[in-house]
Amino acid sequence: MSRTRLGLLWFGIICMTTASLDAAERKDVPDKYRWNLGDLYPSDADWTKAKDALAKRVPEMAKFKGRLGKSSKDLLAALETMFDIELALSRLAVYASGLSDEDVRAARPREMKQAAEELATAFSSASSWVRPEILTIDAAKLKKWIAQEKKLAPYRVFLEETLRRKPHTLGVAEERVAAEAGDLERAGGEVHGVLSNADLPYPTIKLSTGETVRLDASAYTLHRQAPSRADRDKVFTTFFGALKTYERTMGATLAAGVKAHLFEKRVRHFNTALEAALFQDNIPPAVYKQLLADVHRSLPTLHRYLTLRKKMLGLDTLRYQDLYVPLVASIDMHFKPDEACEITLEALAPLGKAYTDALHKGFDSRWTDYLPSTGKRSGAYSTGVYGVHPYQLLNFNGRYEDLTTLAHESGHSMHTFLSYAGQPYPTADYPIFVAEVASTFNENLLIHFMLDRAKDDATRLFLLGTLLDGLRTTLFRQTQFADFELAFHEQAERGEPLTGENLSQLYLKMTREYYGHDKKVCQVDDLLAIEWAYVPHFYYDFYVYQYATSMVASTSLARAVRDEVKTGKTTRRDAYLKMLSSGSSKYAIDLLKDAGVDMTTSAPFDAAIAEMNGTMDEMERILDRQPKPAQPPKR
Ligand SMILES: [Zn+2]
Repeated sequence: MSRTRLGLLWFGIICMTTASLDAAERKDVPDKYRWNLGDLYPSDADWTKAKDALAKRVPEMAKFKGRLGKSSKDLLAALETMFDIELALSRLAVYASGLSDEDVRAARPREMKQAAEELATAFSSASSWVRPEILTIDAAKLKKWIAQEKKLAPYRVFLEETLRRKPHTLGVAEERVAAEAGDLERAGGEVHGVLSNADLPYPTIKLSTGETVRLDASAYTLHRQAPSRADRDKVFTTFFGALKTYERTMGATLAAGVKAHLFEKRVRHFNTALEAALFQDNIPPAVYKQLLADVHRSLPTLHRYLTLRKKMLGLDTLRYQDLYVPLVASIDMHFKPDEACEITLEALAPLGKAYTDALHKGFDSRWTDYLPSTGKRSGAYSTGVYGVHPYQLLNFNGRYEDLTTLAHESGHSMHTFLSYAGQPYPTADYPIFVAEVASTFNENLLIHFMLDRAKDDATRLFLLGTLLDGLRTTLFRQTQFADFELAFHEQAERGEPLTGENLSQLYLKMTREYYGHDKKVCQVDDLLAIEWAYVPHFYYDFYVYQYATSMVASTSLARAVRDEVKTGKTTRRDAYLKMLSSGSSKYAIDLLKDAGVDMTTSAPFDAAIAEMNGTMDEMERILDRQPKPAQPPKR
């Protein structure tokens, strides 16, 4: 998951999106709606030629071994070679995986992708000695070299990052043992994945629509939104009932995952598992704790949301099972890809002409693979190759959420574009902690643009409901996950055992507190205790909180930029654009601070909560002026 350049090559950002619906044959898709991988290699034959040449370069690093500490010139030559090969490998991989994603059934592209991955692994292993050897150079001498040798400047961050890790880096023999243990550490998550994706005997139910569905995890995610309350009850009871049967096993797999995190913590001399995980991107643990405290203090806003939901759904009692039915039924909006591009460009106008001109050019020069087609990979993502340009894959179906996805991915792609333009290759990749800021920032501009244009109450209510549900699930649900994740790690750190049963108890207590069960805001039934077993993120080692912090930062930043537009000033915008062009030349927290959000304080969080409350104010105003139905709709 880490984008730091320490033995891990990173090729793109995977976003949370839904699968595609309609599909044509790829040969029928006009060129202008396909990305152009020809900008990477004119043909597959050229790719093969490049791959063969690159395979010969993999052992090249060996000639520098034992020489890094000799002189700044030796060090420079080694780093130039290493980054040069890495860049060539990323070009090879992006082409192969892009080609494979065009049709995941095709064997040849899949082989190419595999070959590129194997080459990357081989190179990673062939250069794994570099960091340990840099650490044998006297730190003062290294700093002097960085100050004196101008050509080392692009590698300053890499070298300083290596030094920062010194207290948590082990000797050569111990590192080898730790690396071998790495394979074992993934076992808990892997067993959980196999069980929940393949082996768990999910039951089949019949819905009131007559449809029979096998309730696996993805069917549950879809049908928990069922408009009929009886259906939702059936879906929840059946799905969580099935998970409950495996509570003990699920507890054992999660406990294994936690043990692996605690092993890392101990052997690398960290005080806590949280500290060990956040150290990777140099995020202070206080930022994590701050988020949890901010959310706890803002639970009244969540309760206000739940009360509004109860009213809008016309329910006497709101239950946890009623949280996923859309707040406002979808309205009929449809967009062609060209219209979606135009709207996106208009909506992003607050970012200035240089930004929208560059994106416009990107739209016109085939960065994007728009349409679904048979065999194409589902979902959406953005990637890119330094020195070339970003690429983005969509499965555009013309719905409002597809427009949102275009704005989202364009946020990633422009972040990539600007960082490529502003940085040398070694610092052109940006940290994960800021990646989802750029994408959700654009989503925020889009929805406010649409709101400004929407004339009728129905459209406004739909857009406000979409904005509100996004804030609720990201700010509160993801933070609750982060809260739970910290709690069970701390339980293990205190030496208390983790079992399926006590994980469920902990989860139920926490969920009831968040959703105001005792205050009669939202009823959380006993069976919901097992929900944790359905969330794969608990194996990702303190990853999920970043969804919430990104949303907090982007909501706060977008608000500042939108407000500033009215005054004609561009200070906040320019600071934000500077962050987008800074890649990883600074740490994530400092990048955001320079852009105007200090994630070590509560101010950005409060701005996001203010947006949530403002959204509800307006929804309530609209609802108040609507004619009251004699009988509220029961959904
Ligand atoms: Zn994303």
